[in-house]
Amino acid sequence: MEIEDIQSPRDYLLYSKNTVHGYSRAIGELLDLSASYIQDAEQAYKDGKIDAVWSRATGWEIPLAYASGIVPVAYSEMGRLSDLDAVTIAEDYYQFPQETCSMVKCTVGQWHKRRGFGMKRIIGASVACEPYNLAWELMRKEGYDVHAIDVVYRAPGVKGDRLEQLVQFLMAQIRETADWLTGGKEIDEEKLKEEIRRKNRLIAKVRKILELRIKNPYYMRSLPAIYLLTGLNTYFGKPLAYEEVLDRLIVELTDAPVRLRDLNKVIPLVWVGSPGQEFGIYEAIDQADGALLGFRGYPFNNYDESLPPVEALARHVLGNQEAGASIYVQKVIEQELKKVKARGLVLYGYLGCSYGSVAREMWRDYFHKRGIPSINLEGTFQVGPPTGQILTRIRAFIEMLA
Ligand code: SF4
Repeated sequence: MEIEDIQSPRDYLLYSKNTVHGYSRAIGELLDLSASYIQDAEQAYKDGKIDAVWSRATGWEIPLAYASGIVPVAYSEMGRLSDLDAVTIAEDYYQFPQETCSMVKCTVGQWHKRRGFGMKRIIGASVACEPYNLAWELMRKEGYDVHAIDVVYRAPGVKGDRLEQLVQFLMAQIRETADWLTGGKEIDEEKLKEEIRRKNRLIAKVRKILELRIKNPYYMRSLPAIYLLTGLNTYFGKPLAYEEVLDRLIVELTDAPVRLRDLNKVIPLVWVGSPGQEFGIYEAIDQADGALLGFRGYPFNNYDESLPPVEALARHVLGNQEAGASIYVQKVIEQELKKVKARGLVLYGYLGCSYGSVAREMWRDYFHKRGIPSINLEGTFQVGPPTGQILTRIRAFIEMLA
């Protein structure tokens, strides 16, 4: 498949696997895991091989679900399966205003198509997003069993007693969610500890891969690099297979010859935002000699294995970049810029997300004042090629950095 033949994100995954990364078994397997995630989980659930629940793509509920013997399936990944149909259902049937974030509309449209069969349970999160809060209510009415986690928000400067209160609040949320997941069973602390150990082990492997990428920036291009991090949250429903891919990638990257001319021409960038669904953006970055080497979601924070596991989960959330205030993300971006010697920032979010656009504007302003150029892109979540305007802007931005 050549770049001109691409019609959908699925085509782009195939192109990336076979044409761009044909030399790497590990990258091919990573892309396969990502492409088959939803379909395989739904099939295994249908065949009675697994219990499964719709969940966020990140968050403490994921290790908790695995420790309860339940596979978490990230509803945001359904975006990849979406088309304008899903958006139309959300707008015409559920009366979402046109300007609502496309991620929410795609997810609601997909759940609508699955009403009455398939996975019926959803762990929702009332975290900063009003359109999703509306979606939980609508899906309840459609017969889904929805458990909505409450907001946990660590404002700047919150520490001491106030932080301890937040930890206690979050621990109560974790216990309530475990109760809902298991139908009233106690949390299996041993299994949760195992999940935490697994997470720390995999975090260390992903960090190693990201370090190796700095020395060999074109071995693994932008799209699989994004999915390396996405997989670290959910393991694409297959933790063992995901870990095998990480091990193989470490071997491949350690052995791969480094080309000096790549190091001379590469334009290191930091990606700040959601994993975009318009994969042509990644292609545009790659073709312009850019490389996404730093990430807002870099896993800098380990779980404290010396703590009781529920407390370890809570403290991990409140100690990382997703704790609440955008200032926590800002610190991680600063570290990433320095580490990868980035020449610029790519800020990406979804059209219609007022929360994300305010945060991106703050970061743009903050880093602009420190002499770091950035580009602020807004895309959509449904299947389809990226708009020509976005591609032109990103190419022009990277050319300017070169
Ligand atoms: S991108 Fe914004 S509006 Fe859309 S789901 Fe996320 S937080 Fe909500």
